Amino acid sequence: MIKRVLIANRGEIALRIQRTCRELGIETVAVYSDPDRNALHVRNADYAVRIGEGPALESYLVIDKIIDAAKQTGADAVHPGYGFLSENSRFVDACVEAGITFIGPTSEAMRALGGKVSARRLMEAAGVPIVPGANDIDAADFATAAAEAERIGFPLMVKASAGGGGRGIRLVQRAEDLENAMRAAGSEAASSFGDATIFLERYISPARHIEVQIVADHFGTVRAFGERECSIQRRNQKLVEEAPSVAVTPEIRKRLCDAAIAAAQSCGYRNAGTVEFLLDRDGNFYFLEVNARLQVEHPVTELVCGGIDLVALQIAVANGEPLSEEATTVDPTGWAIECRINGEDPYANFAPAVGLVDFVEYPNGPGVRFDTMLYSGLDIPVFYDSLLGKLIVWAETRPRAIERMRRALRDLVISGVQTNAPFHLALLEHPDFLSGDFSTGWLESTFVMPELAEDDERLEPALIAGAMAEQTTAGRSSAPGVGAADMSRWMHGAREIARRGIRHDGGTSGWRRGTASR
Ligand code: ADP
Ligand code: ADP
Ligand code: MG
Repeated sequence: MIKRVLIANRGEIALRIQRTCRELGIETVAVYSDPDRNALHVRNADYAVRIGEGPALESYLVIDKIIDAAKQTGADAVHPGYGFLSENSRFVDACVEAGITFIGPTSEAMRALGGKVSARRLMEAAGVPIVPGANDIDAADFATAAAEAERIGFPLMVKASAGGGGRGIRLVQRAEDLENAMRAAGSEAASSFGDATIFLERYISPARHIEVQIVADHFGTVRAFGERECSIQRRNQKLVEEAPSVAVTPEIRKRLCDAAIAAAQSCGYRNAGTVEFLLDRDGNFYFLEVNARLQVEHPVTELVCGGIDLVALQIAVANGEPLSEEATTVDPTGWAIECRINGEDPYANFAPAVGLVDFVEYPNGPGVRFDTMLYSGLDIPVFYDSLLGKLIVWAETRPRAIERMRRALRDLVISGVQTNAPFHLALLEHPDFLSGDFSTGWLESTFVMPELAEDDERLEPALIAGAMAEQTTAGRSSAPGVGAADMSRWMHGAREIARRGIRHDGGTSGWRRGTASR
């Protein structure tokens, strides 16, 4: 039985895993880099071990340091979270060699699924539909590739077998562009992943990115927890996820879940994983890849599947417990939406924003969950990805979930560092989003971020309210003759201004945008 878990991660996901451990009476060990020494995941852990400097290559990605930390603290299991070492089969082997339980799949399954070409072969053999394409492409044999491309049809995609995070992918519109695309995808993959193997895939458009959450035990039982809709993407990064998807009927859901279960069984998969598909307009779907780990967007599944705890399930399965014999597929109840709150400026082409968060107010109330690393006084380091928190809501229906998300986004106050919250509010007003009429290309081809209205009339009272709020916090009395109603309206304005990342700069240089302030 697992008694002490080392969490080989940081940020919101480390906190997420700690919470479940505490509920289960399991102790937690945090690891941290120097710039993370004041992070919440360090403060909240039972034990914490420093593992090096800021760059992940000197800390969170160093297998030996993590294994040493686990041995030092007597941790009997490791949870990898997502990103970092979570899909590194050598890390799994190192844990096993050290006698530490890895909370995730076996290294064999991870290797089988890690390459897109080997995963495609596995799925084809298991009867899971894959995107029509050509697996065996010699990166230097352009004549054969051209013949295969004619067979597949244009447009098509050249993809790197080792690709990830949107890298090593090229869209090819015409035959004459194929050779250059093959060179580009191959060399990008060689430099990023050390493997230039490429393959060809038909371009499915318009398509939705739909994925299925699965959990498998050590006895061959696989359960599928329905789908997530992840088509709202920018630069191949998901920004908003929903469960269920407006495009998935009960009949499609059944077929998707059956395919995901077959995918997991094809490689003796264990623990939690996600099977990604593209879904076309006619209800056909095609296997993309398996993410062999807990996914960023797992909470939307937890909320529509009766409040299950996927981390608790991961731990139970890792302890060798069998999954229950209930139905292998779970039907969703109600609707859940997640907005990724990133440190980036939606008014400046989503440039990264880091720095000191001087004030945070969490949204709250019925149906609202905020998984976050933020606290007032946190200095966000430059070394890691931009995800600061995930705002997740549940309601009975999609329209009510959207209303609830708008309310929660308005209640969220983050001052000092610009976030993409205004983007989410604008997206949640867009008629295409409201009707559910979007695909993976929609955000970049159609959505336009509204300009920040500098002359917005709400700014005037907000400026005063902001100043007053500062006075009040500083323990001074508020301005004489101000009624409670004015006060409340102004406080609302102050929140509005904080939400937009505008802050007061010590009373000397006046108001300014708080983006990337260092
Ligand atoms: P999800 O589908 O769960 O969002 P992603 O593939 O977008 O999964 O990535 C999850 C996390 O993993 C990201 O926040 C990022 O930090 C990390 N990640 C993804 N791809 C890479 C990569 N190629 N190199 C380093 N980190 C990555
Ligand atoms: P990664 O490992 O980088 O996540 P994926 O194969 O999962 O690569 O693809 C990332 C994204 O690229 C998908 O979510 C989808 O938007 C797009 N994409 C990938 N393959 C295709 C395809 N054959 N047709 C259309 N879009 C695709
Ligand atoms: Mg993917």
